[in-house]
Amino acid sequence: MDLTSLRSHNDRTVLRLVRSGALSRASIADETGLTPQAVSKIVARLIAAGLVEETGAVRDGGRGKPRMSLQLRADGGFAYGAYVDRDELRVVKLDLTGEVVSASVVPLAPMFTPSDVLEALESLVEPGVLGLGIGIAGPLDFRDGVVSPNGLPGWSEVPLRKLAEERLGLPVVVDKDTNAAVLAEAWRRPLEDAAVVFVGTGLGVGLLLGGEVHRGARSGAGEFGHTTIQLDGPLCVCGRRGCVEAVHAAATGVEAARVLAAAVTNLVQLLDLDQIVLSGRKVLQSPELYLRAMPDVDVSVTSYGPDLVPIGAGLLVLGELF
Ligand SMILES: [Zn+2]
Repeated sequence: MDLTSLRSHNDRTVLRLVRSGALSRASIADETGLTPQAVSKIVARLIAAGLVEETGAVRDGGRGKPRMSLQLRADGGFAYGAYVDRDELRVVKLDLTGEVVSASVVPLAPMFTPSDVLEALESLVEPGVLGLGIGIAGPLDFRDGVVSPNGLPGWSEVPLRKLAEERLGLPVVVDKDTNAAVLAEAWRRPLEDAAVVFVGTGLGVGLLLGGEVHRGARSGAGEFGHTTIQLDGPLCVCGRRGCVEAVHAAATGVEAARVLAAAVTNLVQLLDLDQIVLSGRKVLQSPELYLRAMPDVDVSVTSYGPDLVPIGAGLLVLGELF
C-alpha cells in the first residue's frame, strides 16, 4: 500500500471521519453530503487498500438492514518518526492510528555528521512502511528538506530529505523538531492558538495559529530561542548574544524558569495565545518549577514524555493520509 492509492480529497475526508470514531457508511454520507453510492465506492477502495475495516453490524433504530461499523485498521500501514537531537537519535514506529509500536534511542557522538545519522537510521528503520518523518533543529527549509541546524557544527545546507530518501528508499519528510512537537499535541486534542515550548538541548516553540501549524515564509517561524532577551548577554550557538536559549542555559533552577516565563509572556502577548504546552527534557526534569513560573494562561506539560518529537515526526507522514 502506498499513498497514491488515496485518490482524492474525498478519500481523505472519509478516512479522517473514520479516524474520529467508528462510523457507518450512512453516517459518513450524512456528515459529508456525499451520495451513499459515492461513499460505498470510497469505502470499498479504502478497505481494498487495507486502511479501513468493518468491525461488525450495528442496528440503529429498529427496522432496516443492520449497518456495518467502520474503523481504521491499525496495522494498515506504519510510519517512522525520528528526532535528530544534539546528542542522541530517537526513533519510533507508529501504526496507522498514531500509536507507538516500538521506540529506540541511540547516542550520537560529539560532532556527529549527516552520514552518522543516516547510518543509524538505516539500522533502525525497516523497509515497507509509508515513510519516515525527521524532526531536527532549525533553521531548515520544510519544502526541500535542506537543513542548517543551530548547535550542530558542520551541518550547513545539508539536503537531509534527499540523502535519507536515497539511503532508505522511502518517502521522507523533514520538519523542525518544534513543528513535529506541536503536531503531536494537536493530534491528541483540539488546539487552536497554541505554542509548544520545547526546552531540550536547544530551545524553541512550535506554533499553532488558527488550528494550523505556522511555519512562516521560509520555514523559520518559532526560532523563539534565538530572540534577544538580554542585550550583550551570553554568547549563543547561533552566533548572537543574549538569546533566550543562551540566557536560559546560563541560569539554573528557579532563575532558569523565570527566564523562560518572561520569554513565554512576550510570546503570549505578541500572538494572543490561549494554550501553552511545555516539553523537552529540561522541563520533564522539573515540571513543577516551570509550571509555577508561567504566565496566567492554560499551561500544561506534554503527556508524550521524551518521544514527543519523534512521534510528531511520524505523524507528519500519517497526516498525509488524512
Ligand atoms: Zn541564539
